[in-house]
Amino acid sequence: VARVDRLTRAFGERTVLDGVELTIERGEFVALLGRSGSGKSTLLRALAGLDRDVPSGPGRGGLTVDGTTAVAFQEPRLVPWKRVWANVVLGLAAPDPRAAAAKALDEVGLTERGGAWPLTLSGGEAQRASLARALVRDPDLLLLDEPFSALDALTRISMHRLVLDLWDRHRPGILLVTHDVDEALLLADRVLVLDGGRIAHESRVEVPRPRHRDHPDLTALRATL
Ligand code: ATP
Ligand code: MG
Repeated sequence: VARVDRLTRAFGERTVLDGVELTIERGEFVALLGRSGSGKSTLLRALAGLDRDVPSGPGRGGLTVDGTTAVAFQEPRLVPWKRVWANVVLGLAAPDPRAAAAKALDEVGLTERGGAWPLTLSGGEAQRASLARALVRDPDLLLLDEPFSALDALTRISMHRLVLDLWDRHRPGILLVTHDVDEALLLADRVLVLDGGRIAHESRVEVPRPRHRDHPDLTALRATL
C-alpha cells in the first residue's frame, strides 16, 4: 500500500533521512523504532504526503501510496475552534457525521467529551480524539506517530485493542512510530529501527496474536533491537 524508494531528506546542512527504503503491504502492521531526532516523524510526514519536498511517484527519492491515508500526529493537532466531535469527522463525507463521531468517540472512551472544546481536553484525551479522527476514516494506510505515549497504562491497553480491531476489520497497512519496544513487539508483524538516516535493522515478529510480553520468542527478538 506504500512504497518509499531511497528517500533522502535534509534540513539545511543536516541530512535526516539518507536513503530510506520501505514498503508497507496492505494488511501489514509495521512498527518503527528509533532514537529521538532520528527522523521518524519526518518519514511519517513524507508518507502522509505532507512534505512538499518529497516527490510522489515511483523512482529514486519518490513515494507511492495506494488508497486513502489517515494520520494521528505526535501532537494531537485538533482545530481549537471546532468542538471535539466536529474535529473527529472534519472533512469526512459521512451520511450522518454526528453519529459517526459519536461512535468513534465511544470507541476511544470519550463519549462525554464530544461537545467539549479541544483546549479543555487533557493530553491523553486529546490524543484519543486524534486517534478517533484517524480510525473513523477506515484508511488503507494508517500512520500513527506515538499515539499512545500520553496515555495511562490501562487506556493504552484498550487503545491497542482498538487499533488491532480496526486492523482486523479493515486490514489497512499500519505504520506505528513508538519508543516502546514492548509495544512494537506486541502489535507489529515487522519492527524497523531507523538509525543514521536509514532502516538500520529489521525484524519479523512471527509470534501469533494476542501476544504476551514474556513470550520467549519476543524476549529473544527484544534482545536484538
Ligand atoms: P522524536 O522521537 O523526538 O519524535 P523523531 O525521530 O520523530 O524524534 P523528527 O521529528 O523526524 O525526529 O526530526 C528529525 C530531525 O530533523 C531533528 O533533528 C529535527 O530537529 C529535524 N527537523 C525536523 N523537521 C524539521 C524542519 N521542518 N526544519 C528543520 N529541522 C527539522
Ligand atoms: Mg517524532
